[in-house]
Formats: sequence, structure tokens, C-alpha cells
Amino acid sequence: MNLKRRTALVTGGASGIGAGICKKLAEKGASVAVNYLDHRDADRAEKLVEELKAFGIEAIMVSGDVTNESDVKQMISRTIEVFGSLNILVNNAGITIDGVTQNLAVEDFHKVLSVNLVGPFLTMKAALPHMSKNHYGRIVNISSVAGLFGLRGAPAYAAAKAGVIGLSKSTAREVARKGITVNVICPGYINAGMTKNIQQEYLDAMTPLVPMGVFGEPEDIGSGVAFLASDEAKFVTGEVFRIDGGMAM
Ligand code: NDP
Repeated sequence: MNLKRRTALVTGGASGIGAGICKKLAEKGASVAVNYLDHRDADRAEKLVEELKAFGIEAIMVSGDVTNESDVKQMISRTIEVFGSLNILVNNAGITIDGVTQNLAVEDFHKVLSVNLVGPFLTMKAALPHMSKNHYGRIVNISSVAGLFGLRGAPAYAAAKAGVIGLSKSTAREVARKGITVNVICPGYINAGMTKNIQQEYLDAMTPLVPMGVFGEPEDIGSGVAFLASDEAKFVTGEVFRIDGGMAM
């Protein structure tokens, strides 16, 4: 998995799984643009960029909201301007707002869809003309096992993550002859980011449902992304990979 001379943009890259993905791509030799949302994340992004540079690659931070089309265009063009190209796009930014279907506010349903599903649509829409011109691209969209089997109390999240699979497969078909692959990773429970807000009691109840008996680490998702971004995965597209310790098999 040699990613030397490759360039990547990771949305929501400053924290949790996103940071693990950035580190793995940098370790394999790719230059990395770390997208962060706003000033709240600027410090984390700045620290991460310094860590990434220690791998001997170029790293930059690019601010922007993935739900805002002009922000997204600016993130992509800034990455291309600094690195000279964009080879790898990782749609990792995500949010969840809990609430069972009968109680969830419609505004919250829209918000969750906006970040998790409209976001990847906008970034792909902005990146594809450049990737098509270069006849090369690796897109990895982060979904969730919730998108495969649903999640009680998170209908918007599960719907958005299932949507990411349909969006990715459709786009994969559209660009398959242009040297561009589009794949999906469905993480199970990972010791980072969103799981930090879940009550310990719930996490303890979930652990035995994972055949491996433990939660994963951000780098486990990073390794999957690095493989799909590599030349070794050149014949893999439209695929959905669970990285979940066997939970959703
Ligand atoms: P985090 O909350 O740490 O990461 C999500 C990142 O997305 C944050 O950096 C967040 O910024 C950023 N973000 C949110 N909204 C936007 C936006 N509009 N524009 C740009 N960036 C935004 O959680 P995780 O690391 O856990 O999640 C990463 C991905 O992995 C998500 O897609 C999630 O659904 C998925 N996932 C996570 C699992 C887990 O167990 N942790 C399991 C399955 C899937 P900010 O912090 O400022 O809000």
C-alpha cells in the first residue's frame, strides 16, 4: 500500500476516525488535506497537520462545511492549488441526532441527511471533473453498519448511511471507465468520536455483540481506506466493506 506522490482530502479529518484515516494515509506516503468545520476544530487540525508532516509528507488544513456547496468547491480547489492534484477523497464527516422516528424533529432529520449524505454528494460532484480529467481517482465514503441493519433511535443516521451506499454505487457505475473507483466502508463500534458520547452502560451491553469482543480503533478504518486508495485496489469499485470485528456479518 504505497501512496507516495498521492494527494488526499479527508472531510471531518481533525478528530476521531478522520484523524486515524489522515495518519494512515500520511504513513503510507500521501500528502493530506485535513478538512475541519470551523474555529472550534482549528487547534486540533493544526496539531494533526504537524503530526502528519512528521511522516515526511505535505499536510495542510482546509476549513469548510460539507453541506455548503461553495465551501466544498473552495476546499477542493485549495487542495488542488497546494498539492497540484487531488487523487483521494475520503468522505468521513458525519453527525448523528438521536430520536426514535415518531419523536424526531423533521429539521433534525434534514440536518443529519445534510451532513452525512448531501455532504458526500457535494464533495464528489466538485472533485469528479478534476479526477475525470486526470483519469485517476480513489473515493472512499464512510458509512456505518447502521446503514446496513438500521439502528433503533437513530433513523435519520441509518437512513443517511444507507443512502451513502446507494449514492456510492451509482457514482461508481458512472465513473468506472474514467479510472475512478468509489467504495464504501461501514465501521462498527470504534473507540473514538461518536462513541465517546454514548453512555458506558450502553457500550458495555454492545461489546458482547461484537464477535471479536472489542471495539475497533480509528487506525483500523484508516487501514481499510489506505487499501482502497492504493493501486492494489485498482479493480475494486462499488464495494461495501464492513470493518466491525464481525458485528454485522
Ligand atoms: P467525530 O464526531 O469525531 O467526527 C466527525 C467529524 O465530522 C468531526 O470532526 C466533525 O466536526 C466533522 N463534521 C461534522 N459536521 C461537519 C460539516 N458540516 N462539515 C465538515 N465537517 C463536519 O465522530 P467519528 O470519528 O466517530 O465519526 C467519523 C465518521 O465515522 C462519521 O461519518 C461516522 O458516522 C462514522 N462512524 C463512526 C463510528 C464510531 O463508532 N465512532 C461507527 C460507524 C460510523 P466537529 O467535531 O466540529 O463537529
